[in-house]
Amino acid sequence: MVAELISVGTELLMGNIVNTNAQYLAEKCAQLGLSMYHQTVVGDNPDRLADAVRTALNRSDLVILTGGLGPTEDDLTKEICAQVMGFALEEDPHTRARIQAYFENNIYKTISQNNWKQAVVPVGARVLDNDNGTAPGLILEKDGKAAVLLPGPPGELHPLFEQQVMPYLQNLQPERIVSRMIKICGVGESQVEDRLLDLIDAQTDPTIATYAKTAEVHLRITAKASGEEEALARIRPVEEEIKRRFGQAVFTDREEVTLEDAVVRLLKQHGLTVSTAESCTGGLVSARLVNVAGASEVFQEGFVTYSNEAKQRVLGVKEETLRQYGAVSRETAEEMAAGGAAAAGTSACVAITGLAGPGGGSPEKPVGLVYMACCLNGQVTVQKYQFKGNRSKIREQSAVRALDLLRRTILDAYGADAGIASDATV
Ligand code: ATP
Repeated sequence: MVAELISVGTELLMGNIVNTNAQYLAEKCAQLGLSMYHQTVVGDNPDRLADAVRTALNRSDLVILTGGLGPTEDDLTKEICAQVMGFALEEDPHTRARIQAYFENNIYKTISQNNWKQAVVPVGARVLDNDNGTAPGLILEKDGKAAVLLPGPPGELHPLFEQQVMPYLQNLQPERIVSRMIKICGVGESQVEDRLLDLIDAQTDPTIATYAKTAEVHLRITAKASGEEEALARIRPVEEEIKRRFGQAVFTDREEVTLEDAVVRLLKQHGLTVSTAESCTGGLVSARLVNVAGASEVFQEGFVTYSNEAKQRVLGVKEETLRQYGAVSRETAEEMAAGGAAAAGTSACVAITGLAGPGGGSPEKPVGLVYMACCLNGQVTVQKYQFKGNRSKIREQSAVRALDLLRRTILDAYGADAGIASDATV
């Protein structure tokens, strides 16, 4: 089935807001196994919107429109779709009652005459109740084509899509689309693709798609079948083969699990506590750890030691080390990690020191040079990296690789059993 998107709003055309709805919906449609060949952005102009809707309905089976369902004069999406598809409009008493209740329950908002416009729906449309706003979603079906109209605010769009549109789309499709996600850290995207070339070339069903993230690569394996079990049975051998090829680099096989989730899970599993000693990342690693609910069980303290003086005073890095090797060096990283673990009294400490630039580089120590160290139960492992990119890219990559160093150090020390975060309890 071919789907396409129309994002409605002059503010999108002017660059006042970023079209995150298109990104969100395109990803969801891909997950559902829908093909997508076109996306359009159109302003709040009736003729151009009508043109866009007509064109989309001619070439696609399903058109998803977002925005322009509001109460004002320039909100035209519903009226134009009804006109193009040949639907009359009438007030829906159920939606009117919901709008009334929405305002009664919201002391900060007052109802205006305009709001009743949102209770008017195309005759025969499916009305999708919106629990987070006043504009309902709408599904219009005609001649084997469907238009799905959704409100623009992401806080209204996402729940409507996930709770009501996804089940509708799954029903339309005779086949079940099932996908699994494998997340890899520490191997570049082109290297991942190289090592999977034979599987990717041979793919028809299941398919493998790669997504490059900051210092991570995510792989989605998708299969179509008449039932979920059958689809999973096709996915499993491919999934196992990918895990075999990438070994420890795979940190999870669950979509919702992040790298920091996987790290916190491992720390908990082995009864370890952790601290951080950060220089160029300035707290990014501790912030990532704190992203995880329940991180307090394992994360004790984060030191941001930016100056040499702080590295000495807080972490006990020797003046001699800094003088002889410099702040960005293997030796300093090592002492930061050992000193951080001692100062916080934790079983592990991960330390990062590097040159995030843009200034400060030299031929011996170019911008992007980062040393990170992990002290685990008194043993220190150090890694040297040469990152590319601007200051924030270098800092972000450093934070991800530091979390990964911690993860791999634990796996090396305690064995890789259950190294992959597979269950929901992370
Ligand atoms: P409402 O019923 O709240 O008036 P609407 O369906 O009329 O919503 P718009 O008025 O077009 O939607 O947009 C309302 C807000 O929703 C925008 O100001 C913006 O914050 C957000 N929004 C709209 N379209 C998009 C989009 N494509 N991507 C991200 N955000 C969007």
